[in-house]
Amino acid sequence: MSNVSSNSTESSLQGRGRAIGVPKRCWCGEGIISLISKSDSNPYRRYYRCQFAVANKLRNDEHTFKWVDEAFVNEIDTLNAKNADLEKQLKEIRTERFEFEKMVYEKMEKEIFEKVEDGLSEAKASHKKIMIVLVFFCMIMIGLTKLLG
Ligand SMILES: [Zn+2]
Repeated sequence: MSNVSSNSTESSLQGRGRAIGVPKRCWCGEGIISLISKSDSNPYRRYYRCQFAVANKLRNDEHTFKWVDEAFVNEIDTLNAKNADLEKQLKEIRTERFEFEKMVYEKMEKEIFEKVEDGLSEAKASHKKIMIVLVFFCMIMIGLTKLLG
């Protein structure tokens, strides 16, 4: 049974070092197939192998070789790491959003406060005008009564 990955968008940038997770492609450009070990030390243990190495029956070469169980453990580790990363990012986004909202609220509060103050001083100014008009009117009335009286 072979399980050839058809994901051709995956590049072979992983280099000759041990790839992390389930290998998609060997560094040589060949695909990966999964085989079952017949060795005495690892009987029936599944592994991933470079197709080229299998076709040419290579041994002790640098082409991809990886135990399936180890690859899965790797994959889970990678996923866990990604998860932790995502959680961290989410937390950062939340903090950023909180900071942003706080900023907006503070700005709004300040603007409202300023507007209220403006309104108050405007009201005070018009109140003053009315007072001046009233004082003049009273003075005229007093003058008139004195003139008439
Ligand atoms: Zn290879």
